[in-house]
Amino acid sequence: MPRKMDELEVAGRRVLLRLDLNVPLREWQVADDTRIRAAAPTVRALAHRGAVVVACSHLGRPKGKPDPKYSLAPVAPVLAELSGCPVRFAEDVVGERAHAAVKAAKPGEVVLLENLRFAPGEEANDADFARALAQLADVYVNDAFGAAHRAHASTAGVTRYFADKAAGPLMLAELAALSKVRDNPQRPLVVIAGGAKISGKLETLQALAQKADVLCLVGGLANTFLVAKGIGVGRSLVETDLVELARQILEQAQSRGTEVVLPADVVVAESPEAGEGQVVPVTAVPDNGMILDAGPQTVAAITSKVGSGTVFWNGPAGVFEKAPFAQGTLAIARALGESEAFTVVGGGESVEAVHLAGVAAKISHVSTGGGAALEFLAGATLPGVAALEA
Ligand code: ADP
Ligand code: MG
Repeated sequence: MPRKMDELEVAGRRVLLRLDLNVPLREWQVADDTRIRAAAPTVRALAHRGAVVVACSHLGRPKGKPDPKYSLAPVAPVLAELSGCPVRFAEDVVGERAHAAVKAAKPGEVVLLENLRFAPGEEANDADFARALAQLADVYVNDAFGAAHRAHASTAGVTRYFADKAAGPLMLAELAALSKVRDNPQRPLVVIAGGAKISGKLETLQALAQKADVLCLVGGLANTFLVAKGIGVGRSLVETDLVELARQILEQAQSRGTEVVLPADVVVAESPEAGEGQVVPVTAVPDNGMILDAGPQTVAAITSKVGSGTVFWNGPAGVFEKAPFAQGTLAIARALGESEAFTVVGGGESVEAVHLAGVAAKISHVSTGGGAALEFLAGATLPGVAALEA
């Protein structure tokens, strides 16, 4: 585990604080402030301890050059309001304006640098850019777990130039919760995997399947496994290239004695736009039909498994954005909310689903880590974490 931010001497020192302020913007306004709200206590804690906080983040994918569409400027007033600290916005990343803003800031004040990805050196993990970033501060804190799986200048390269570096509270909470799932889970370990983004997830699933006692496959992801078992899925979402890997995962699970729960019944319709679906046995999906949700028997089989131990859930059970196909996902979310188990939910849409079901506060840990969380669970060393420990 990296050092804790609380252990660093920060009074009167400039702290380069890597945050995840990658929020959606609409017409130069913050459209969803969840990530700023999450980061605000870290900013406030450092400012109250007398640091000059030099906050930085990426936003979107501006491809290494300034693009007003991706400016962090609209984030500054929201960060000021939510943290209660004065926030000065620097109109460049490591240029004259950043230096001037940092120089003018007093202890307890915050400077927000412009989008790191306006500089080509950020994603390239360029040493000169990393050094320039480091020159803006004396101490480094990374609280952007969601960016920790990328070896970028602000998450990896920059740490070389700091003797004092630590992880912020959001990063530490993610590491603690995900380690509990990965390293010594309270048994049984139940993994529920679904969603639509299958490539990139199956490798994580393969690693987790080695440890899980129960593996529940739902959503679009399950379709590829159904095909691997020779079950027809009509016009449903399938990743043909991954059928073989799915078959391997099922085989490995069987030889290890992992219980696999595949859909027994499903909700089908002609398209997600259809006003309603029809529940059919999984072996009776019509050729022109699409599987759009888990059926009631499947949901009951899954919810009966999640009462105790450890549950990790990634990926909705259906197209929950459309009311007729949301039942499976909402029922799983509610079951996790009522569970005595240590429950962890990760993934953009999965997290949305637990909010929609109104149970987010009852989940042991809601991970905002996305890809970083999955890579960590699969056993990868995250460059952003390793760089703090070096
Ligand atoms: P997460 O963001 O939680 O990691 P993904 O990005 O993999 O999850 O997938 C989320 C999406 O999966 C949702 O938008 C949902 O509509 C879609 N989905 C779930 N089940 C199906 C299905 N059977 N067919 C098509 N899309 C599905
Ligand atoms: Mg997603």
